[in-house]
Amino acid sequence: MFIENFKVESPNVKYTESEIHSVYDYQTTELVHEEKNGTFQWTVKPKTVKYEFKTDVHVPKLGVMLVGWGGNNGSALTGGVIANREGISWATKDKVQQANYFGSLTQASTIRVGSFNGEEIYAPFKSILPMVNPDDVVFGGWDISNMNLADAMARAKVFDIDLQKQLRPYMESMVPLPGIYDPDFIAANQGSRANNVIKGTKKEQIDQIVKDIREFKENNKVDKVVVLWTANTERYSSVAVGLNDTMENLFASVDRNEAEISPSTLYAIASILENVPFINGSPQNTFVPGGGKICVHSTLHSVGVGSHWSYVLIENLLGLIDLAIKRNTLIGGDDFKSGQTKMKSVLVDFLVGAGIKPTSIVSYNHLGNNDGMNLSAPQTFRSKEISKSNVVDDMVSSNAILYEPGEHPDHVVVIKYVPYVGDSKRAMDEYTSEIFMGGRNTIVLHNTCEDSLLAAPIILDLVLLAELSTRIQLKAEGEGKFHSFHPVATILSYLTKAPLVNSLEASFHSVKIAPKDVFLEQLLEDACSHYVYSNNLKGGVPPGTPVVNALSKQRAMLENILRACVGLAPENNMILEYK
Ligand code: NAD
Repeated sequence: MFIENFKVESPNVKYTESEIHSVYDYQTTELVHEEKNGTFQWTVKPKTVKYEFKTDVHVPKLGVMLVGWGGNNGSALTGGVIANREGISWATKDKVQQANYFGSLTQASTIRVGSFNGEEIYAPFKSILPMVNPDDVVFGGWDISNMNLADAMARAKVFDIDLQKQLRPYMESMVPLPGIYDPDFIAANQGSRANNVIKGTKKEQIDQIVKDIREFKENNKVDKVVVLWTANTERYSSVAVGLNDTMENLFASVDRNEAEISPSTLYAIASILENVPFINGSPQNTFVPGGGKICVHSTLHSVGVGSHWSYVLIENLLGLIDLAIKRNTLIGGDDFKSGQTKMKSVLVDFLVGAGIKPTSIVSYNHLGNNDGMNLSAPQTFRSKEISKSNVVDDMVSSNAILYEPGEHPDHVVVIKYVPYVGDSKRAMDEYTSEIFMGGRNTIVLHNTCEDSLLAAPIILDLVLLAELSTRIQLKAEGEGKFHSFHPVATILSYLTKAPLVNSLEASFHSVKIAPKDVFLEQLLEDACSHYVYSNNLKGGVPPGTPVVNALSKQRAMLENILRACVGLAPENNMILEYK
C-alpha cells in the first residue's frame, strides 16, 4: 500500500514551525584488539551514541547553475523538468507518453514506513523531509557554446521530436553564460564548440563566475544556489606540493595564472567563495585531492605462512577541499553513477556478499554523443578510466576469505567513440568468478544506457539532496554545539562513481613487504599512481571515513540518515513481527 506522506509521533521527535528536532540512538560498535603470540585477538563491543538532529523546514527557492548547461545532460534535465512542471505529454510510435521522473531517487522511489493490517506501507522518498519541489527550481548556467537550450536540445538528439516541439518555446530564450575554456584540459575535438568564452586571467575568470552567481541569484530572486559541473570531462590536473596541495598554494597559483589550474577548479573556487555548494559530475580531479602522504605503517603478521603484510595509511593532501572545509561549503562528486558502474556496484556486492570470488571484470563501452567524442582523447579517457576502476575495491577488501591482502580481480575498462549510437551508450561487461571447488562462473551483461536520460534525474537528486543536507544540523552526545555535515558530502555517494572522501579521509592499503624498497614502489603503483607523495612515516593519525561503493549500502546510508532526522530507526529488514 502507498501513502503520500506521514508524520512521526514519538517523544523523541518535535515538529515546530521552523524545524524538526529528533533525538536518535545510534547503535554502533567499538573494536579492540590485543596481540597474543603473534596473532590478534579481537573483541567487538556494541555501543549506543545519542545524536540530536535539527532540520530547517523552510524550503528555499532554489537556483541551479549547470556548468555545461547546453550539453546533452544540461538540456535533457532542463527540458525534463519543464515537461514535468507543465504536464506535457507527447506521441511516440508506441503510445502517448507522460512526463515523469523515473530514475530519480527523490522523486520516483519509495521507502517502507511499516506494516498495517499485515500489508507493507510505502511512502515517497521525498516525503521523509521537506525538499525542494523540482517544479520550483530555476535553471541557469554556463557553456562554452552559445547555443540556446532549444537548439542544444535538438543537437543532443535525446528527446522525441514531438516533445522537442512542445518544449522549444520554453527553452529558446535560455542562453548559457560564457564559460571558462582551456583547450589544454579537454579534447582538441571540442574546439569548434568554443564560441562563448570568458577572457582574462584565471583570477579574472573566477571573479566573473562569482559575479555571474550573484547576478543569477539577484535576477531570479532565488534564496540559494547550487552549482554542478556537467561539462566535458577534463584531463587530470597534476597535483604538486606548492601548486595546489593547500588552499594558500592554490590561491597563489591562481594569482600567478598557473597553467595547471583547470577550468573546473576555477568554477569550484568561485562557488566555494560564494558559499554555494559545488558538485562535480565528471571524473576529473577538480578538487585536486590526492597528494598522498604515507603516514602510518603498521605490520601485521598475516594468516599466510611466513608472510608479512603491511598496512599503510595514505593521508590525502587537501587541495581545494581545504578551502571548502575552511568556508564550510558543501562539495560533492565525482562523476555521476548512472549506467555500467551502477550495475557493477550492485553485481560485485552481490557476488562477494554471496561468497563468490570475482576474478576478472572486463567492461566495454561505446557511445556516440559529444561526451564520447571528448573521451576519445587519451588524457580525458584516463580520467574516466580512473573513476571507473576503483569501484569494486571496498567490496573486494570486505572479504579476506576470498581475497588475500592486496589481491584484486583483473579489472579493465575500454571506451570507444561510435558516432552512430549517439546518446544510446552500450555497456558490455564480462564478470568471471571462481565458485565452489574450483568451478568458474561467467556472467555477461549487455546494458543499453540512454546516457542523458539516466544522468538527468541523478543530477536532479544531487542538487535537491545537496540543498537538503545544508538544512540539517547534528550533534553527538558530549558535543557542545550543533554542526552541519562535513563539507565533503559523502551522503551523496549513492549518486557518484568515485565518492569524494572527507578531509581526514585516508585510505589503507595492504601491501606485501619483501624488501622494503620494493614495497614502496609497489605501493605507488598499486594504490596511488596519480598521487604525489612524501615518504613520511609517522604514527597516530586517525583513519578517515571508509569509501563505500556498494550501491545498497550507499542507499541505506542516505535513507537511514534522513530517517534519523525524523526519529525513525534504520530499515533493518528483520520483520520480527512475523517470525
Ligand atoms: P556534452 O558534451 O553533451 O555536454 C558538455 C557541455 O559542456 C557541452 O555543451 C560543452 O560545450 C560544455 N563545456 C565544456 N567545457 C566547458 C567549460 N569549461 N565551461 C562551460 N561549459 C563547458 O556531455 P554530456 O553527455 O552532457 O555529459 C556531461 C559530463 O557528464 C561529461 O563529462 C560526462 O563524462 C559526465 N557524465 C555523464 C554521464 C551520463 O551521461 N550518463 C555519466 C557520468 C558522467
